[in-house]
Amino acid sequence: MSTRRSAELTDPGELVERAVAGDVRSVGRLISLVEDGAAGLPRLLTLLAPHSGRAQVIGITGAPGVGKSTATSALVAEFRRRGHRVGVLAVDPSSPFSGGALLGDRIRMAEHATDPGVFVRSMASRGHLGGMSAAAPQALRVLDAAGYDPILIETVGVGQSEVAVVGLADTVVVLLAPGSGDSVQAVKAGILEIADVFVVNKADRPDAGQVSRQLRQLQAMAPAAAMGSAAASSAATAWTAPIVRTVATEQRGMAALVTAIAEHWAYLDESGQGARRRAARARHEIEAIAADTLRRRLAADPAVDQLADRVLAGELAPHDAAAELLTRLASPEAGLPESGEI
Ligand code: GDP
Repeated sequence: MSTRRSAELTDPGELVERAVAGDVRSVGRLISLVEDGAAGLPRLLTLLAPHSGRAQVIGITGAPGVGKSTATSALVAEFRRRGHRVGVLAVDPSSPFSGGALLGDRIRMAEHATDPGVFVRSMASRGHLGGMSAAAPQALRVLDAAGYDPILIETVGVGQSEVAVVGLADTVVVLLAPGSGDSVQAVKAGILEIADVFVVNKADRPDAGQVSRQLRQLQAMAPAAAMGSAAASSAATAWTAPIVRTVATEQRGMAALVTAIAEHWAYLDESGQGARRRAARARHEIEAIAADTLRRRLAADPAVDQLADRVLAGELAPHDAAAELLTRLASPEAGLPESGEI
């Protein structure tokens, strides 16, 4: 799947070096390799590793129409005013077509298109059998190594996969808006647990105050354990998600939002939650890659058909067949053809 791009590449070390130096084309190419699940990824990630681990990753999520794109763009503008180089990953698990995604980039972030301090990329997971959960953390690492800080990761919708992707973030910002009808419903669907900062966008609408009040009531009712995993461990270090009101279309409230995000970053550091989150994230990443690798090997292994025949013939129980398959896959000679190059 990565043949075309592979042919263009000669030296992974040079590619990483150029990306780390801030070369935008190299950053883009690395993310394409990630999307394709290129065979040489492990080598690239090893080269990137010493340069990454610094950026604050900010997840932005909420129901369609609440103003995520507008708010992301306004937030980027605020970070730019403060002198940050900003990376933006827009993740749409439901649309795997990069053509559409690129068009999306142009529309959503048009005002930052000519700014070399902003890198915007919509991500698809073309070659990744493990999907976005395997690809997104690697793309974040590329942007991190290239010196973008913060990195905003914006997802469409609030379904399971979106929540999983936002789970990659250090700080999760959940947007709600009045009039969307499902704001409180969204809170009930587990949003209260994942939000580090709430944004009530469209604060120019008259019923915005009501959304904030409902949120505050829900926070007051929620047991500590449901107020983010942080709160469960110690009341002294508990974090209650602040509620920031914004009018994204007029760039209002963005300074307060940046302050709330910075306070959460400081909290992560002081409470030790940041290190714990990153450890959990590394664990998920390893699991996603392992699952991805296993699926690839299964798909390529002719033994599955033979085992299926034996199960059908009543010679073998499915569990025994699965055990036999796992033993086969675990032995190195049963794996995919090794390919060290990209
Ligand atoms: P997304 O689907 O969550 O990314 O939402 P968009 O950013 O595309 O915004 C959806 C619509 O809401 C657009 O028409 C925006 O112009 C509008 N919108 C975004 N923020 C605000 C706001 O603060 N106030 C008002 N009145 N409209 C907004």
